[in-house]
Amino acid sequence: MSYVDTVLEGVHRRNPRQPEFLQAAEIVLRSLEPVFEHHPEYEEAAILERLVEPERTIVFRVPWVDDEGKIRVNRGYRVQFSSTLGPFKGGLRFHPTVNLSIMKFLSFEQIFKNSLTRLQIGAAKGGSDFDPKGKSDSEVMNFCQSFMTNLAAYIGPSTDVPAGDIGVGSREIGYLFGQYKRLRNEFTGTLTGKGLDWGGSLVRPEATGYGVVYFAEEMLNGVNDSIEGKTCTVSGSGNVAQYAVQKLIDMGAKPVTMSDSSGYIHDPEGITRERLEWLMELKNVKRGRIQEYAREFGVEFYPDQRPWNVPCEAAFPCATQNEIDLEDAQRLTANGCLVVAEGANMPTTTEGIRHLVEKRILFGPGKAANAGGVATSGLEMSQNAMRLNWTFEQVDQRLREIMRNIYLATAEAARRYHEAGNFEVGANIAGFLKVADAMLDQGVV
Ligand code: NDP
Repeated sequence: MSYVDTVLEGVHRRNPRQPEFLQAAEIVLRSLEPVFEHHPEYEEAAILERLVEPERTIVFRVPWVDDEGKIRVNRGYRVQFSSTLGPFKGGLRFHPTVNLSIMKFLSFEQIFKNSLTRLQIGAAKGGSDFDPKGKSDSEVMNFCQSFMTNLAAYIGPSTDVPAGDIGVGSREIGYLFGQYKRLRNEFTGTLTGKGLDWGGSLVRPEATGYGVVYFAEEMLNGVNDSIEGKTCTVSGSGNVAQYAVQKLIDMGAKPVTMSDSSGYIHDPEGITRERLEWLMELKNVKRGRIQEYAREFGVEFYPDQRPWNVPCEAAFPCATQNEIDLEDAQRLTANGCLVVAEGANMPTTTEGIRHLVEKRILFGPGKAANAGGVATSGLEMSQNAMRLNWTFEQVDQRLREIMRNIYLATAEAARRYHEAGNFEVGANIAGFLKVADAMLDQGVV
């Protein structure tokens, strides 16, 4: 048995019934195999055995009172996977599907993503099975305060700095930050994604969506092409999708779809700046459904479907995990798609990725392509530490440089250890090497 086989066997034995975590561990560890031929010292230092075990996992009760005075109970999580490169860092997700397996998969992926940014940030992820949908503001606040009351003991500006994710936007970050400040009696940059007037960074809301488009542009530039003029399909209509569409419009591309969990809209002439603004008001302020876009602008709405059968040259999955399966991937390639850049975390299934890579599509895996969000969170931490605010242009410029460097590191690792153009493997290897070397330096901890 190879080193990777042995470690994976232990991972399966120790983590039964955690399919998402096992899927992520399997994909990442397999892709690292070529590294161990060149670096026996990693095996001797049991780097992988340590890397697949979170440093600390916190699971806690979150009791809160709804508007009818009824007591409700949710479960909270924080999986602190690795502090090798800096304080634990990663988002909080509030969604009914949240469980330990999903938290662990997201936190594990975060190790490599955060490493790729070259900033001093470790890896964590957390959240709850609480569903903010349909809850009043006061219910969301009650929940956030109770959640933070338990979590506060485990986080801090040099320990663990959570951010938002699905279901955790600026409103939730505000309530979480307010409660943290009250409990600790100190104003620190313990959460990122904060409001601009109280420690937030310009470009943080835009960063993941902008970053994924910058990454797609880098991949296309690598083959002497560009995103300009390309027809693009986008899934999701949340934070990542909205700013990916905005940046696509800025760069002269034509985004034609957006979606939510009830279906997708197809706007064949291309979503315009004005229509996007209308949609942002609908989603962020009125908390409406994507279907209303179709009604407002007289375009088609396809209920309960994903947008991958719409012909496009570039696809941007920006909603959730496992939203491009093998069939979707086959449809994309059959329709002439050239590039798939993952805005969401693990939106493509293992079989889907295999197909895209075999067909030599430019495939930007989430841990590289959507790292702009956490990178800008890292920049927010730096600004908080200095108690300074950089301008929009300064932060955007850094974001663009970071995405370019991630692309270069990923492309180089792919070329050196595996095959040129395989960014999936390249991202895992480039992210891993930095963490592994730091672990060697830091001894057995
Ligand atoms: P939001 O909550 O703002 O938006 C999520 C979008 O995805 C919504 O349109 C939602 O529709 C849709 N969606 C959620 N679950 C499903 C589902 N099961 N099927 C179909 N559509 C679904 O989240 P974000 O935009 O912040 O995050 C999207 C993805 O990007 C996630 O995978 C997240 O982990 C990842 N990501 C986010 C970062 C960030 O900075 N925000 C950073 C890096 C990665 P509906 O409203 O109907 O639920």
